[in-house]
Amino acid sequence: MSKEKTTVSVIKADIGSLAGHHIVHPDTLAIASRILAEGKSKGIITDYYVTNVGDDLQLIMTHRRGVDNNAVHELAWNAFKEAARVAKELGLYAAGQDLLSDAFSGNVRGLGPGVAEMEFEERPSEPIVIFMADKTEPGAFNLPMYRIFADPFNTAGLVIDPRLHQGFKFTVYDAFEGREITLNAPEEIYDLLAIIGTPGRFIVRRVNRKGDDEIAAVVSVERLSLIAGRYVGKDDPVAIVRAQSGFPAVGEILEAFTHPHLVAGWMRGSHHGPLMPVGLRHAKVTRFDGPPRVVALGFNIKNAKLVGPADLFDDVAFDEVRRMALIIADYIRRHGPMMPHRLGPEEMEYTTLPEVLQRLSSRFVETGEKKAAKPKVTSELLTSEKEKEAD
Ligand SMILES: [Mg+2]
Repeated sequence: MSKEKTTVSVIKADIGSLAGHHIVHPDTLAIASRILAEGKSKGIITDYYVTNVGDDLQLIMTHRRGVDNNAVHELAWNAFKEAARVAKELGLYAAGQDLLSDAFSGNVRGLGPGVAEMEFEERPSEPIVIFMADKTEPGAFNLPMYRIFADPFNTAGLVIDPRLHQGFKFTVYDAFEGREITLNAPEEIYDLLAIIGTPGRFIVRRVNRKGDDEIAAVVSVERLSLIAGRYVGKDDPVAIVRAQSGFPAVGEILEAFTHPHLVAGWMRGSHHGPLMPVGLRHAKVTRFDGPPRVVALGFNIKNAKLVGPADLFDDVAFDEVRRMALIIADYIRRHGPMMPHRLGPEEMEYTTLPEVLQRLSSRFVETGEKKAAKPKVTSELLTSEKEKEAD
């Protein structure tokens, strides 16, 4: 008989924030913890840990019910609903922002919250790292996921550990078309990079070990604006990564965050900025509502219980990364409202920018000069239906 499997579910939502989009209020954390404690006593979940990164309330849960379980999702939904109620009572900013629907229908996917879940048979020691980012989008994890599971200059184990040497499979979600593709590393890394280099659309959603297909990592792929059709906040992502004994070491996983790469998000979800790794005590977004931040919590899972966490980026070893991030923040901020600090027009579609253009449209006068051809993307994969129609 095979062993009982364990599920780790990380479900997050922005349900309102203290003094702007800055940080979750402790009272909303307390009520969410109470709801999860009730869920634990009823046997819906085995264990939980509630925290926040910036304005996002994070529910980390373990259980035996598998991914996309109705009872677990309903519990998370109720925790967010109650937290949103408290947020409204306190007059917190954007109370209930990410809860796009009043009615729960069995699964939080598509209702606003971000979800990363994985089910596995526990190893004798089961270390995991949970990443939670604020003021950015799910594609922000594309580059670090590539580094962790496909780049030997980041992950030494890909070269010297026989269990990693075979490589990993990347499943990439096309958020515009609602389809996914699985590509193998190292054989198909050029194809992989060709698509995940467009992180606003192609998102690494899952990584599996080649050979035995064992789950290695999952990323939340919810894009709120694509769900709601308007700007409702950035889709601050979460990810779960398994570590050690057949997977990259914790240090290899964290090493992927030593380059504060530029991500979309920051102020009004409309600006590029460096992703800064921080400990929980610095998981608040102040300067220009940022810069974008990521926290890493390390746990061991034992009999579906959470042992930990270790606050992994709360270490002087990341001081220079943070310093570089702040230098980049200074540099790019001086661009003000200009690209490439401000996102490009395709990413601004869900903000008020189209309204500004609409208002100005009658004041544009035709000059009679030759119109430039619209740029064409030749690759079928990179051309969205919308772009094709516009041609
Ligand atoms: Mg947020």
